Amino acid sequence: MASGILILEDSPTVRKEIIEALKNVDLFDNYFEAGDGVEGLKILTSNHVDIILCDLMMPTMDGFKFLMKVKGEPPYQNIPVIILSGLGESDLKIKGLKAGAIDYVTKPFDTGELTARIKVHLDIKTLQDNLQKTNKMLKELSVTDHLTRLYNRRYMMDALEMEFHRSIRKGIEFCLVLVDVDNFKKVNDTFGHIQGDLVLASIADTIQEELRRYDIAARYGGEEFAMILPETSREDGVAVADRVRNAVPKIKFHPLLKDLSVTISLGVASVPSPGIDSVDSLINAADDALYRAKAEGRNLVRVFA
Ligand code: GH3
Ligand code: MG
Ligand code: MG
Ligand code: MG
Repeated sequence: MASGILILEDSPTVRKEIIEALKNVDLFDNYFEAGDGVEGLKILTSNHVDIILCDLMMPTMDGFKFLMKVKGEPPYQNIPVIILSGLGESDLKIKGLKAGAIDYVTKPFDTGELTARIKVHLDIKTLQDNLQKTNKMLKELSVTDHLTRLYNRRYMMDALEMEFHRSIRKGIEFCLVLVDVDNFKKVNDTFGHIQGDLVLASIADTIQEELRRYDIAARYGGEEFAMILPETSREDGVAVADRVRNAVPKIKFHPLLKDLSVTISLGVASVPSPGIDSVDSLINAADDALYRAKAEGRNLVRVFA
């Protein structure tokens, strides 16, 4: 992405001076100029800006008002702002730093100092951005099953706990569906464990595709999956389970697997239901229903009642 700096300064001469200094050290691809805060905000809405140099005394919208706006707006609040202040404006510098500026440079400025400070703050910003990205990635990894990319069991249990208590508090229905692949041992025995893994990943994709955006699909165990369906009645939960049951045998697997078709069995339990008063009892109920689906011939949906 092209790098950009925004310079807010009401004196065109000072702006020109700053831009020339920065161009000499080739720091940015784009140099945006604004004579006051209003113009500055306009530029921010339609351009990528990495850092802002901001004069304090400007007409229409001064540096303080501009800072307040920028620091209050989530898309801009992480852009570092360096204040340009006049000599002896020590109170204003402090006020600017309190308003969220990261540093200040005093006018008339020393070109070397100005560029050095900008570089330091750009480096810090890059480190912070990378840290934020890594944290986000780690957080995602910690709740994701590596084979299927569905949520893992830990996330599922937390989500179930949350959904259960939300449902009790607000009296909203929801469903838990447990899914077990039928005769999966045979798939492994026939095609090997690695192909078996790919089959599981494809089944997971299909489960995910059949659900709504706010439903939760998780890998519960080896070849077992779970679906948490918020704000869903028992009837609707059964309908969803049946839709998934119908979709799975139609999956086209890798040519190596010939015309393999797999089926799944599903157990549905809904809240509120008599006898279900905890997450454990909810899981047991869905498991009972799943057991019946297996016992009654597989490729079936059964409901706890
Ligand atoms: P059914 O559920 O219909 O009773 O029969 P099944 O053959 O699926 O029965 P079971 O639950 O006893 O066997 C599950 C098999 O799934 C056994 C295990 O080796 C296999 N499995 C579990 N996790 C994985 C995995 O991550 N990858 C692969 N390839 N196989 C797995
Ligand atoms: Mg000024
Ligand atoms: Mg199993
Ligand atoms: Mg099985």
